[in-house]
Amino acid sequence: MADIQLYPKLITDALMNVRYPGTGKNIIEEGLLADDLRIDGMKVSFSLQFPKERDPFANSLVKACETAILTYVSPDVEIKGNIGTIFAQPKHQVDPENPLPGVKNIIAIHSGKGGVGKSTVSANLAVALANQGYKVGLLDADIFGPSMPKMFHLEGARPVGDDNGKIVPEENYGVKVLSIGFFVNPDDATMWRGGMASNALRQLITEGAWGELDYFLIDLPPGTSDIHLTTIQTLGVTGVVVVSTPQPVALADARKGISMFMNEKVNVPILGLVENMAWFTPAELPNNKYYIFGKEGCKQLAEELNVNLLGQIPIVQSIREGGDDGRPVACDANSMTGLAFNQLAANVVAAVNYRNENIVATERVRVHK
Ligand code: ADP
Repeated sequence: MADIQLYPKLITDALMNVRYPGTGKNIIEEGLLADDLRIDGMKVSFSLQFPKERDPFANSLVKACETAILTYVSPDVEIKGNIGTIFAQPKHQVDPENPLPGVKNIIAIHSGKGGVGKSTVSANLAVALANQGYKVGLLDADIFGPSMPKMFHLEGARPVGDDNGKIVPEENYGVKVLSIGFFVNPDDATMWRGGMASNALRQLITEGAWGELDYFLIDLPPGTSDIHLTTIQTLGVTGVVVVSTPQPVALADARKGISMFMNEKVNVPILGLVENMAWFTPAELPNNKYYIFGKEGCKQLAEELNVNLLGQIPIVQSIREGGDDGRPVACDANSMTGLAFNQLAANVVAAVNYRNENIVATERVRVHK
């Protein structure tokens, strides 16, 4: 039996170890502790109050507060399940049946492995679609390695709330962008558990002031984790674009991803495959092709699985530089690489249109938790 006497300062001191990821301040400084702290023997209860209607970090903060109290006060404190959350009154309502009413098509971009160029393809596809006159939003859902702030030259941006308390996406090259990287230090995110990550993600999707969009692209984290499924199943995703290199190890993972999406429990349409790093073409020899990662691996996989091959993107130094410099090559629509991404965008549009023409309303997956 515990032999300590609990008192409020003991609790508030412990809570000062919990930081609010949005600002980096501790939650006491941030004013998130409501004035309902109760202590009854070893039982402690209180609420976290948020000035917004929703907060992507609420659930993770509750867990972090529990851990802080159990760690810094005593493991015997009865705190589990005793922390409430209070949000500002909603100024707007999210319709769970249709969380993104202004969005016509939602495209998830997936890769089985990291490093195959999923984010590069997402960024360039978004820019190419915007260049073609579509209204485009891009969500960087790669919680553990957000790269869109850099790729869109938006590092350090801190999106603000609009009058309805929704998060206003940042914008560059005609694309509205939200990334978890705008809100947290990526090093902190690597410690997040699946639940925290998918919650934050969901909030960015449903609480973003996306407005009217023709295409809403979601750059998923690599692999086939629960985060993907939760995200994809909550939204009526139009389809998935799978990015891979032609290399056998990457193809094996791409195949795994495709079969996950095709699984009857998930049942999300595959719009097609993108073969990235399809060949290397030196700038000075634009007609030469060197098949560094193997030749046409994705093309063959697409044929085998009967899915579209949406594009083949070569390895070109300017693509890498465009990513690092915060100006995707697709911005230069007439360059060789710009044309490759334009073609990809046109093929994605065609695949979406085909899908929408042939879709039966009930086929769209909407699983609510
Ligand atoms: P992922 O999102 O799959 O982890 P990235 O898009 O971050 O992969 O790409 C990994 C690295 O490869 C980055 O440095 C990126 O600039 C580079 N890269 C991706 N695609 C190409 C390409 N087609 N040509 C040249 N470099 C590329």
